[in-house]
Amino acid sequence: MNKPDAPEHTPMMAQYLRIKAEFPDTLVFYRMGDFYELFYDDARLANRLLDITLTTRGQSAGEPVVMAGVPVHSVDSYLARLLKCGQAVAVAEQVGEVGASKGPVERKVVRVVTPGTVTDNELLAERSDTLLLAVHRQRNSWGLAWLGLASGELGLTECSERELAAWLARLQPAELLHDGEGLPAALAQASCARTARPAWQFDSTLGERKLREQLQVATLAGFGAQELKVAHAAAAALLSFAEHTQGRALAHLRTVAVPRSSELLELPPATHRNLELVQTLRGEDSPTLLSLLDSCRSGMGSRRLRHWLTHPRRERSEARARHDAIACLIGEGFEPLREALRGVSDVERITARVALRQVRPRELAGLRATLAGLPALRAAAPAGSALLAEWQAALSPDEQLANILSAIADEPAVMLRDGGVIAPGVDAELDELRAISQNCDAFLLDLEARERARTGITNLRVQFNKVHGFYIEVTSSGRDKVPADYQRRQTLKNAERFITPELKAFEDKALSAQERALAREKWLYEQVLDALQPQLPVLTALARALASLDALAALAERATTLGWCRPEFVPYPCIEIEAGRHPVVEARLRETGAGPFIANHCRLDAKTRLLVITGPNMGGKSTFMRQVALIVLLAAMGSYVPASACRLGPIDAIHTRIGAADDLANAQSTFMLEMTEAAAIVHTATEHSLVLMDEIGRGTSTFDGLALAAAIATQLHDRNRSFTLFATHYFELTEFPAGHERALNLHVGAVESGHDIVFLHQIEPGPASRSYGVQVARLAGMPAALIRQARSTLEALEAKAQAGQAQVDLFAAPPAAAQPEPSAVEAALATIDPDRLAPREALDALYKLKALL
Ligand code: ADP
Repeated sequence: MNKPDAPEHTPMMAQYLRIKAEFPDTLVFYRMGDFYELFYDDARLANRLLDITLTTRGQSAGEPVVMAGVPVHSVDSYLARLLKCGQAVAVAEQVGEVGASKGPVERKVVRVVTPGTVTDNELLAERSDTLLLAVHRQRNSWGLAWLGLASGELGLTECSERELAAWLARLQPAELLHDGEGLPAALAQASCARTARPAWQFDSTLGERKLREQLQVATLAGFGAQELKVAHAAAAALLSFAEHTQGRALAHLRTVAVPRSSELLELPPATHRNLELVQTLRGEDSPTLLSLLDSCRSGMGSRRLRHWLTHPRRERSEARARHDAIACLIGEGFEPLREALRGVSDVERITARVALRQVRPRELAGLRATLAGLPALRAAAPAGSALLAEWQAALSPDEQLANILSAIADEPAVMLRDGGVIAPGVDAELDELRAISQNCDAFLLDLEARERARTGITNLRVQFNKVHGFYIEVTSSGRDKVPADYQRRQTLKNAERFITPELKAFEDKALSAQERALAREKWLYEQVLDALQPQLPVLTALARALASLDALAALAERATTLGWCRPEFVPYPCIEIEAGRHPVVEARLRETGAGPFIANHCRLDAKTRLLVITGPNMGGKSTFMRQVALIVLLAAMGSYVPASACRLGPIDAIHTRIGAADDLANAQSTFMLEMTEAAAIVHTATEHSLVLMDEIGRGTSTFDGLALAAAIATQLHDRNRSFTLFATHYFELTEFPAGHERALNLHVGAVESGHDIVFLHQIEPGPASRSYGVQVARLAGMPAALIRQARSTLEALEAKAQAGQAQVDLFAAPPAAAQPEPSAVEAALATIDPDRLAPREALDALYKLKALL
C-alpha cells in the first residue's frame, strides 16, 4: 500500500502494519489507551459486523487513516459477537514502557481468539464444550483430531468419508481446521467456522512428534493412538494452531481419547436431528432429550451428560456401571449430594485457565471454596457402587493446593490490575507497601500536629494537590515563624507553600507505593500460578469426579422424578419395552395439562424384526417410533428409561428416516433428500441396528412412492434384517407381514363417533381398518362443504378400486436382469492371454483394443 514515491507511514502505523502482516486473515485489535482500534479493511469489516462507527483520523502515507474502535472495558461483548460470526481476533497489547524508547510504545499480539479456541468464561457457553476440530484426508481415510482448550480434552480418530457426518454431529465443533482442498459436503455444510491452514502443517510425522511431546510419552501406543497416521497429520495442524492462538504450550492436555466409530453406537446426523437429542428441529436448546435430562447442578455436570448422550458405546459395561450407580443413588438418597454440589465452581475450566495462565483471582477464590467444601461433599456422596466409590475417593482435599490458594485474598478484585488480590500476611513487602498507602492520612495528620507544635504556627496545614504534590501551607500571619528547613514551593496571595525533606521522602514513597504494591501483587500472583502448575493432574482428576457425580446424581433425580426404570441388557437380539413413554412429549402433556400420556409396549426379537405401523395421522405413530429409539439410546448412555420394564439386546446404530419439516436450507429437493437418507440406511444398517422409517415415499406420486416403500421394506426385512419400525400411510403395505415371516402389523387405535374421530394413542396388533384422513381434516377445521365433497370423492374412488383389476403383488421378486451380449472389445479381450505376450505384443494388443472402441 506504500507507493515508492508516497510519503512514509507514521511510526505508529508502520508498527500496526507490521503486526497486521502477521495476521492477514484475522481482525487485529490494536490497543491505544482505553480503546482497541481497528484500521483500514479491518475497521470496515468491524463497522459492518459490529455496527461501530467508522472514522478517519490524520494521515499516514499520504492517506487518511480509516479506523473504528471498541472500549477496552466492554471488549468481551464485541469479541463474543465476532466469534458468533466466525471471525478470529488478534489482540495486540501495549507491552513496552510508555516513553521507554523513541517512537510508539512496543505492542505485541498477546492472544488470538478464534471460535474454537476461546477460553474466557464470558465467551463460553456454560453447558456445552467448545471444540476445535482438524481434519485431514489421505486416500479413503479421514483423520480427525480435536481439542477442547477450556476442558482439557484431546481426541483422535480415523474414519471413512461416510462416517464423517456422524462425527461432526457427535462433536459439534465450533471451528474446523482444514487444508483448503475440496471439502466434502458433510464438512462444507457444517454450521461452524472453517479455517484453512497451510497444507504443509498437516504432517503426519510432525503430528506424531507433537503428540508425544504434548503427552510427555515416548510412544503413543499406550493410548492406542500409534497407528493413526492420518489423524497424526490432523493433530499437527491442530496443536500448532492452538499454540499459535494461545501463545504458549498447553500444559493441561496430558491424555488423549481415541474413540472409534466401531465402538460407538452410530447416531447419524439425521438421527440427532429427528430425535431432537440436543437441539430441536428449529435449532433451539429446549425442549430436547438433553434439556429434559439435564438437571445438573454445575456446568461441568451438564457437559459430561451431553458427552454421554452423544457418545454412547456399543459395549455396555460402562452403561451398566452407571445403572448401578443410579440404583445406589436412588437407594441411598441423592439429594444431600445434589445439595452439596450446588455452588461448586467450574473446576474443569479453572484448571484449563490455570494451565493457560489466564485464570482470574475470583476463580481461584472459588476453587479454594470448592476444595474447602470437599469433606462435606464426600460425606454426602454414596459409595455403594464401583463407579461411585471411585469418584467419591477422588474427592479428597489436597493440603498443598489449599496452602497455595491461601495466598489469595478472601474476596479478591475481579481483575488483577485492580489490586487487592493477594491476602494480607502473605508477603511482608506487599504488606508494607499497602500500609504506606493506607496509612497516608494518619501520617499526614501526625505530621501536621508535629509541625504545629515545632513551629508554633497554629493554623499550619499539610495538604495535597495533583500538580504540586504534598506541601505545608502557612498563611501570612505565620510567615515569621517558618523554620529554616522549609523549602518554598509556591507563593500565593495570602499564603506560602513549603516542602520539607521528610514530606518529600513521604511523597515519593506514597506515590510509588501503590504502583509498587500492584507490581508486587502481579509478581506474587505469577508465583501462585507457578506453584499451581504441578497440581494440574490433581485438579483434572477432581474435575472429572465432580462432573461425573453431578451427571449421575442428575440421572438418578430424573429417574425418580419421572418414574423411569432400570433397563436390562441381554446378549441375544431383542428390544422389549413394557409401557414405554416418549419422555419429551410426556413432559409437554404434563406441563400443558393436555391429558395423560398413553404408554405402549414394543416387542422385537429375532423372530419379529419389522413392524408395519398404520393408523390415522395424529394417531401417535411417530411418537411411538421415536420413543422406542429414545429408550434404546437412554439405556445405552447409562440412564434409566421411561418404561415399566425394558430388556435390550446389542444395538450398533439408530437410523432414522423421518419426513421432517422441509429442509429449506438444503438445496436438495425433499424427495431427493428422502431417498438419499433411505439409501444411506439400506447400505449401512445391520441386524443389530434400529431403523425408523416414517412415511417413506411420501415425497413422490402415489405409485412411485408405494413401489419404493414396498421395495425398501423388503430390503430391510430380507437383507439388512434390522429392527425396523415402518410407519406408513400406504394401506397396501399391511399385506407385507402375510408374506414375510419376521414382519408384523400394528396400528394406532382410534374410534369413530359419528363423523368424528377420537385418537386413543394406543398401539394395537393388526392393521388399521382405514386411514381416517377425511376425519382428521374435519378436526383440523376444514369447511363442511369441502369435507362433504372429499367424502363423496373418496367413496367413488374406493368403489372404483374394488371393481378394478387383479391386485399387483407388491412384494414379488423382480425378474432377473437380462445378460447383455459381450461387446467387441470384451470378445477380443477374452482371447488374450497376458502371460504369453511379449511387452511389444502387449502394446500392439492394447492399440487394437483401443481401435475397437
Ligand atoms: P402420527 O405420527 O401418527 O401422525 P404423532 O406421533 O405425531 O402422530 O402424534 C400426534 C400427537 O398426538 C402428538 O403430538 C401428541 O400430542 C399426541 N400423542 C401421540 N402419542 C401419544 C400418546 N402415546 N399419549 C398421549 N398423546 C399422544
